[in-house]
Amino acid sequence: MPAIKFRGVDFIQFDALLTEEERLVRDTTRQFIEDNLIPIIEECNRAGRFPRELVKPMADLGFFGASLKGYGCAGMGNVEYGLMTQELERGDSGVRSFVSVQSGLCMYPIWEFGSEEQKETWLPPMQKGEKLGCFGLTEPGFGSNPGGMKTRARKVGNEYILNGEKMWITSGTIADVAVIWAKVENENDKIRGFLVEKDRPGFTSQDVHGKWSLRASVTSGLSLQDVHIPEANLLPKSGGLKSPLMCLNQARYGIAWGAIGAAMSCYDCALQYAILRKQWRDQPIASHQLVQDKLTWMISEITKAQLLVLQVGRLKDAGKAEHQHISMAKRNNVWMALECARLSRDILGANGVADDYPIMRHMMNLESVKTYEGTHDVHSLIIGQSVTGIDAF
Ligand SMILES: Cc1cc2nc3c(=O)[nH]c(=O)nc-3n(C[C@H](O)[C@H](O)[C@H](O)COP(=O)(O)OP(=O)(O)OC[C@H]3O[C@@H](n4cnc5c(N)ncnc54)[C@H](O)[C@@H]3O)c2cc1C
Repeated sequence: MPAIKFRGVDFIQFDALLTEEERLVRDTTRQFIEDNLIPIIEECNRAGRFPRELVKPMADLGFFGASLKGYGCAGMGNVEYGLMTQELERGDSGVRSFVSVQSGLCMYPIWEFGSEEQKETWLPPMQKGEKLGCFGLTEPGFGSNPGGMKTRARKVGNEYILNGEKMWITSGTIADVAVIWAKVENENDKIRGFLVEKDRPGFTSQDVHGKWSLRASVTSGLSLQDVHIPEANLLPKSGGLKSPLMCLNQARYGIAWGAIGAAMSCYDCALQYAILRKQWRDQPIASHQLVQDKLTWMISEITKAQLLVLQVGRLKDAGKAEHQHISMAKRNNVWMALECARLSRDILGANGVADDYPIMRHMMNLESVKTYEGTHDVHSLIIGQSVTGIDAF
């Protein structure tokens, strides 16, 4: 079977809905991924290796903090940003996760809740990829319900002392700085964000091993045992659970686009394979009605997902996107991508389980994407709450 090369997916002239600048961002990212990630991603996935060599080239293209303004960031519109994450995830969800965490979960809270000094210190080197960040919200006992967190900060003199455990933290061991969310004992357990540099005594991190998903991304546990940080490391404008949730909204929006990239990769691979692969009377399997039905389902759902997230992006640019809009886009598009991965894997038969093709890797990655940043079911509850006014958590 000849090598299958991605050709792009556009059934309803979706491109006509994009500006020239948006198409340029999409095409530049697509070319970067084709030239730099596709040739190495299967090796990285097998080895469980994060392709760190791509950090600098990604920084040079403005991928980090891309939608932020100032401090050397690209200041992209929300649709440009989304198309960038789509192309990154067409390459690999793990690499897209790295960029989402660096941008939406570390640079964004510094930009939104940080002091001017914190912004000047961290944002320019993070934009350049010289400093890496992570976001510590989840704990071993608290995932979907982060408000239950046990991590505590206590103010003593002009310092804070942090104690707690964080789990499933993307980029935890490679990060120079962690945004840690903790309840402040002297403020009635109000949740606030803190910047914790990796070399603070008492702060340790270790990688999670044995993951069958996002193998090209680093996932870690963080431990904070009497970690002293100066009060200047508090993110001064953070306050309450809504602060980390605002960060998650940024990242969830990128995921909603990213999942389309993974779906496109699977669909396009399955379509090309179905035309090449012959079975029964020397006919391509694409000539069978059941195979065509699967391809039809996929192209229809990809197209609907594109339209959904484009509208959410336009709302976001206009300052009108609500968190429930982003929940719908994340929930629908990740579910859709996972179904596309399963159908595509099926169309490839036995070849579908091998890493000569990207499908099984996308499928395994998307299992994490379905769970993180609010599980599929948690987003059902958010949408349900929005339409009924009743909290069913
Ligand atoms: C690879 C990877 C990377 C991650 N990166 C990060 C990161 O960088 N930073 C970070 O802070 N976290 C990160 N996470 C953690 C992630 O956000 C959590 O795993 C997620 O929030 C779910 O929490 P949980 O795993 O504890 O599952 P649980 O909350 O225990 O949920 C288990 C199941 O119960 C369901 N459930 C829970 N509550 C309800 C309810 N009220 N009603 C109905 N069903 C419910 C869920 O939908 C799910 O199906 C990462 C996770 C993974 C897998």
